[in-house]
Amino acid sequence: MPWIDQNCCTGCGICVDECPVDAISMNVDTAEINITECIRCGVCHDICPQGSIRHDSEKKAEIIKANVEITKRYMELYAHLLRSPEEADKCRRRMIKHFINEKIIAEKTIEELEKLA
Ligand code: SF4
Ligand code: SF4
Repeated sequence: MPWIDQNCCTGCGICVDECPVDAISMNVDTAEINITECIRCGVCHDICPQGSIRHDSEKKAEIIKANVEITKRYMELYAHLLRSPEEADKCRRRMIKHFINEKIIAEKTIEELEKLA
């Protein structure tokens, strides 16, 4: 999914005009994407003169860090609320299961998409 780096968007509005499904709008002086409307066509990425429109792959490290941080936060809460380090570790293992499940869903989705060719 595309996202806009607000630090380098100049608010020129080119992407707003060119998006085929009107998924981009101006928020004060920078553009933002309505991800539920976006059809992932890539037009905005190709036409932005500032290179402000980025791919998901450019956020991987950030997403991984956020996943680890939220897991640590849950573990702290479990340890505090349930007064047990074992519960915190159960939480860690549940989060691992959650991400394994996400991985399986992604792999199966890829398999189905490859069949569409
Ligand atoms: S084309 Fe690029 S710089 Fe111009 S508004 Fe869109 S994201 Fe910002
Ligand atoms: S990827 Fe296509 S549909 Fe999505 S915001 Fe960009 S131009 Fe619009």
